[in-house]
Amino acid sequence: MNNPDVFQQPHHEVVIVGLGPTGATLANILAGYGLDVLVLEREESVYPLPRAVHFDDEAMRVFQSIGLAEGIGRDARVNVGTKFVDRDQKLLLDWPRPQETGPLGWYPSYRFHQPDLEAELNRGIAACKTVTLHRGASVTAVTDLGKVVEVNYSHDGAEHMVTADYVIGTDGAKSVVRAAMDCEWEDLGFQERWLVIDVQLNRPRPDLGDFTIQTCDRDRPTTYVRCPREWRRWEISLWPEEEAADVTTEEFIWPRLRPAITPDEGRIARKAVYSFESKLASRWREGRLMIAGDAAHLMPPFLGQGMCTGIRDVANLAWKLAAILRWDAPDSLLDSYECERREHTRIYIETAVRVGEMMNSAQTTDELIHAVQPDGSAKMSSIEKGLGGALGLSNDMMRGKRACQPRLVSGELLGDVMENKFAIICSEQFATSLESMSRKYSKVFWSDSDKALSDLLFKNEASSIVIRPDFYILASLKANAATEEQIEFFQFLSEFFGNFQGVVKNSTPV
Ligand SMILES: Cc1cc2nc3c(=O)[nH]c(=O)nc-3n(C[C@H](O)[C@H](O)[C@H](O)COP(=O)(O)OP(=O)(O)OC[C@H]3O[C@@H](n4cnc5c(N)ncnc54)[C@H](O)[C@@H]3O)c2cc1C
Repeated sequence: MNNPDVFQQPHHEVVIVGLGPTGATLANILAGYGLDVLVLEREESVYPLPRAVHFDDEAMRVFQSIGLAEGIGRDARVNVGTKFVDRDQKLLLDWPRPQETGPLGWYPSYRFHQPDLEAELNRGIAACKTVTLHRGASVTAVTDLGKVVEVNYSHDGAEHMVTADYVIGTDGAKSVVRAAMDCEWEDLGFQERWLVIDVQLNRPRPDLGDFTIQTCDRDRPTTYVRCPREWRRWEISLWPEEEAADVTTEEFIWPRLRPAITPDEGRIARKAVYSFESKLASRWREGRLMIAGDAAHLMPPFLGQGMCTGIRDVANLAWKLAAILRWDAPDSLLDSYECERREHTRIYIETAVRVGEMMNSAQTTDELIHAVQPDGSAKMSSIEKGLGGALGLSNDMMRGKRACQPRLVSGELLGDVMENKFAIICSEQFATSLESMSRKYSKVFWSDSDKALSDLLFKNEASSIVIRPDFYILASLKANAATEEQIEFFQFLSEFFGNFQGVVKNSTPV
């Protein structure tokens, strides 16, 4: 220990470095478990302009779990989808997004204005009694001392130090926390500069359409996005020789937005050059330090999944921190964080890169697009992968898959009654045994008393399904399971819910 005074410093269970969407979501979830959290954010106020413009049903389900879905949904709009066209506007590939709520209980895709979302997340934080937020606090160093982490930051012209049981770096691409870990970027090969332009329309322009249009053009791929209210986004790929100072001028921009829109129809609210990269941190956890969101991964925005991935990271991390700090789980439970999240994230990055390559080549690539029809009737579908190396029994085919969220006979969604706990859904046959092993951190739901739950089991040919607080499946028992399989399932759950003993022993990577 390099500082004997360390235990006299203010101490928090968790320090979150960075209050972007990832850190703000994490703070809200941890507050739901009553954890003592300090958030340190360098900026004095929320960044007033959007970066992300899309989130998905998984993100919305997480917002639901922190009680913010209604406010966030009110400001967002359901996305109709994306059309990939060539430079002559001929349809190459269609990615329609359903206009009905899906198996996760929400619409699969939303368009939103990022400052609205961050305002809601901050409203949530302000209502949390156990979360302290210091704005204008720039973290300069984090040091894992073994028993605690020391965090140094400057605030109001003075240097401060606090300690924490765990420090989570949600401090973006240039993360200080990542720098303190023995960690490198794995470069997945995509690097392009794009000009991002946000326009505020002066008057409605319904003729611009509601679809996102990705123009695939070897010379100059571009994207048009229909955002909420009067907001519209254009993204334009840049050539290597084009300088930021030149392309952010009105002289460069307006000719490229015509004929869609002219200067008297809208105001350029923001123009910025971004470097779109594809990177994955080699380690996501080292001792008491962890990273999430852009601190752990970067991807080009063609799928609109960078922020969504960060939200999945913290949903995964939060219940594990709560399990350790509140439910006596062993610290080794956190080893599953990187194991479950890293390879899952790789799939999103690689897919986003392939879409980027498609936009650059004006040709469709395979895998992602099942069969491209010359008439543009090919359809793209969303990624629905389970977690890599998920906790659970290796022979359980449902472990690590995303759980559906049925609407119960009461009219509530399952997540509304889970209270951030595990949901054990089982038929009456197993209810007594499962109830006896469930603890304060799980709730047993009898499928016999609710048709939505019995349908869920029936559809999955299961007699029991255990859903984690982050809405992935921990364990399942087949409807026709042999006696040995039943014994193995009950033994696993008994160890898991018996203070999480045996958790790591039983989990093997897929
Ligand atoms: C043009 C563009 C379009 C995009 N579109 C989408 C989309 O449609 N959908 C989607 O899901 N994603 C999208 N993304 C990606 C998305 O914006 C990011 O993945 C997301 O904002 C990352 O959030 P974060 O909270 O992890 O990091 P950030 O938003 O970068 O937040 C990090 C925070 O940490 C703070 N910080 C940094 N260092 C320190 C320090 N030392 N001390 C204290 N505080 C610190 C920063 O001030 C900042 O507030 C897009 C990105 C771009 C560039």
